[in-house]
Amino acid sequence: MTIHDDVQEVLLTEDQIRGRVAELGVELAHDYSDRQPVLVSVLKGSIVFLADLIRATELPLSVDLMELSSYGAAMESSGQVRILKDLSGSIEGRDLIVVEDIIDTGLTLNYLLRYLHERTPASVHICCLLDKPARRLTDIHIDYRGFTIPDRFVVGYGLDFDEHYRNLPYIGVLRPSVYGGAEPRT
Ligand code: 5GP
Repeated sequence: MTIHDDVQEVLLTEDQIRGRVAELGVELAHDYSDRQPVLVSVLKGSIVFLADLIRATELPLSVDLMELSSYGAAMESSGQVRILKDLSGSIEGRDLIVVEDIIDTGLTLNYLLRYLHERTPASVHICCLLDKPARRLTDIHIDYRGFTIPDRFVVGYGLDFDEHYRNLPYIGVLRPSVYGGAEPRT
């Protein structure tokens, strides 16, 4: 019995992800060729994407990490966010690239963007691996997008269900029996 046995369908293979992340790295290297951006990422779902993305670009970049948690009903994204871990360095006057695993309603990112802008960075751009536009509740401009995916609850490549499956090397959908029926809402 392994984590793979719980996967019903693979949406994005390891090869597809690797190829697209390499392309994003090249795009970033091109667009930021004369700058030293700070990649701001949100724990924990983004760690695998971040780890691969920074190795796909040769920019003189730095990394800072935040951890956020949503208030409200357990599986609903409420947009009310609590900071569990703050930035460790100053971002004033810096060029930020927000590295996100997935943008669903957009409420978490909306909060994060307001928080970052208050600290007067020089610029803020968004790089997300997965865009799930079906349930978007805010207008967010995504500058660098890995893939657009349908309204499914996905796991793997850093994304969890109940803290499991982050170590799947691909993006997949779990068997309904794992959830006990319906897919969880985020
Ligand atoms: P949003 O505020 O955009 O609705 O939610 C963003 C966060 O919800 C993501 O960073 C991620 O943690 C979680 N999320 C949204 N969709 C999914 C999904 O399909 N699978 C998993 N594992 N988490 C998701």
